[in-house]
This record gives sequence, structure tokens and C-alpha cells, in this order.
Amino acid sequence: MPDSANSPLNDTEKSQLLANYQAVLDELAKCNEAAGRAQNGAALLAVSKTKPAAMLRALWQAGQVDFGENYLQEALAKQALLADLPIVWHYIGSIQRNKTKDIAAHFDWVHTLERGLIAKRLSEQRGEICRQNPSVPPLNVLIQLNIDDEASKSGVLPDELFALVDEVAQLPNLCLRGLMIIPDKAGSDAFVRTQALFDEVRARFDLPQWDTLSMGMSGDMAQAVAHGSTMVRIGTAIFGARDYA
Ligand SMILES: *Cc1c(COP(=O)(O)O)cnc(C)c1O
Repeated sequence: MPDSANSPLNDTEKSQLLANYQAVLDELAKCNEAAGRAQNGAALLAVSKTKPAAMLRALWQAGQVDFGENYLQEALAKQALLADLPIVWHYIGSIQRNKTKDIAAHFDWVHTLERGLIAKRLSEQRGEICRQNPSVPPLNVLIQLNIDDEASKSGVLPDELFALVDEVAQLPNLCLRGLMIIPDKAGSDAFVRTQALFDEVRARFDLPQWDTLSMGMSGDMAQAVAHGSTMVRIGTAIFGARDYA
């Protein structure tokens, strides 16, 4: 397992972490209120990539339930160390074809679905898990939308969204919940256009559980919440800068 997964947390690090966490919660509450969404505001996904299991445990004890991870092997190592906690695990990294089996087995949510082929594999593999253990629900999935239309970026293009929604909606072991975006930094109108597409899918398709819009990060939380985000993904502001060394 990666060394980082297992490193302990000293008292100073722990109090800094909890102070950061509270500041992010306060900021999110302000954004929700400013958007007139004090009652049904966006929730917080704590993005814990590269951070040790001890940090996740401390945040769990402070009330955080949802954690996002990008790297499969690292996530599995932390999950093993935190198996005693009913954490809700979100996979937010890019999905390689040979990783779908572990993702289907070890996560509650996937935010980064962008291809029908991957969706089919995830559904089949989740189906095997559900057959072994009927209490396991379908895998919640979000379609990652390439809203800024950049060739280099991942996500399905807006033109291809409805076709992919149609395909994923028919897969028995996936529960299609909504959309996810990573907008470019240029301050585009990505949030406005994503909200419009989100609403259009709801109007066109019969998807009773279409309820999740994963958008907004540290720098653009207020804007994202104002445009209907239901889940903001925050890493650095909670955990501190990442060291990839
Ligand atoms: C890493 C990551 C985040 C968190 O980014 P920060 O800048 O650390 O808050 C959010 N979303 C995705 C998809 C990520 O990969």
C-alpha cells in the first residue's frame, strides 16, 4: 500500500485539519444561504487523494461521511484501514477499463462516467456483487460532462449527452443520479449551461433519481451553488496542499 495511507496524525495536524474543515463548512453554509438554499443546499464531498487514512478518520469523527478518491490502489489501501467506518466512497478519478471491477466493488458513487462501454462493464460487475450480497444497492453514477468543449479534457460532449444518458439509464445495476463537471479556470458560463442541461435531462427522461449536480471546487463554490450544485468537491482547503513526491 502507499506509505502515505498509513501515516499517523499528530495533535497539531489534527487541530489544523479540524479548523480547516470547520472553515469550509462555514463557507459552504454562507454560499448556500446566499443562494437562498439554506434548507436544501449543496453538500460537501471531502476530496482526500494523497492524504492518510488517519485524516479521514479524524474528519469522520467530526461528522464528515462522504469522501472522494482519484487513485484506485491508494483508495483501496485507505478503505482497508477504515473498514470499521461506514464511509460513503466516491470515485472521482479517470476510469481505466481494467479498473472497473474494483471500482464497482469498492465504491458507492462514481462521478466520472463518460463512455457507454465503461458503464456496461461497471453495471455487469456491480451485478455480480449484488448477486453475492443482495443488500448492496446499484452503483450511483454521474456522467462527467465536458462543458467547455476542450479536446484535451475528459467528459462527454454536450452533443452526446442525451445518447449516453439513454444508454446508462437502461443498465440494471447503475443508478444514474446526475452530472459532474470540472470547468476550465477561465470563468466561463459553464455552471449556467450545465444547470440548463441538467434540467433538460430531467424533462426529457424518466429518471426518478436524477438529483445530483457535482460541481464547484475551492475557488468557485459560491457560483456553483448559485447554479444548483448539490455537491461541492473540496480537497486542498480541508487537507492542505498535496505532496505527490
Ligand atoms: C482533486 C480534485 C478536487 C479537489 O481539488 P482541490 O483543488 O484540492 O480542492 C475536486 N474534484 C476533482 C475531480 C479532483 O480531482
